[in-house]
Amino acid sequence: MPSTLKRQTIQKRDKDFVNEVMDLGSKIFPREDMATLRACLQCGTCTGSCPSGRRTAWRIRQIFLKTIIGLREEALSSDDLWNCTTCYTCQERCPRKVRSTDIVRVLRNMAVKEGHMRPEHAKVCEIFFKYGHAVPINDDVKAIRKRLALSELPPTVHTYPEALKEVLVLVDDKGFRALVEKKGS
Ligand code: SF4
Ligand code: SF4
Repeated sequence: MPSTLKRQTIQKRDKDFVNEVMDLGSKIFPREDMATLRACLQCGTCTGSCPSGRRTAWRIRQIFLKTIIGLREEALSSDDLWNCTTCYTCQERCPRKVRSTDIVRVLRNMAVKEGHMRPEHAKVCEIFFKYGHAVPINDDVKAIRKRLALSELPPTVHTYPEALKEVLVLVDDKGFRALVEKKGS
């Protein structure tokens, strides 16, 4: 690595980043699960097992390296972070039992909080705020449900539209709608 690039990389490091990821993750998952990140030995089993990595530039091993050495911006602003399908294959196969998929989910939460939400995600959220579903029901699905002897509408906000208000109370309480609207504006 040329010395100027090496200096820039060193200057960009945020040594608290990995601890912040573990702290945020510990609000959702057990702390010991998040601490497995430090056990990553960069073997690449996760990347080699990743179905998404076969089709995209997503390399889960790299995101863990960036996180551990503190390359915060590179880790959180990467479009590739959104190519994980959360299939959990990597987590099942990791020889060090790193909770890899769960950690990706935490990184995504952090990315969104720091303003890296993709416009497409903001659009999906807006649909959810409007209908209470990210993918609202359509006539084809209604017809399939009828053929299966189910009610045309599922017992969700489609059937109980008044429940949408309660959903939005939760969304607003956590400041999520404001975050999405800021991104959509
Ligand atoms: S398989 Fe586990 S130990 Fe190996 S690089 Fe991936 S997360 Fe790290
Ligand atoms: S959970 Fe994500 S990173 Fe892991 S194997 Fe599946 S797509 Fe790849």
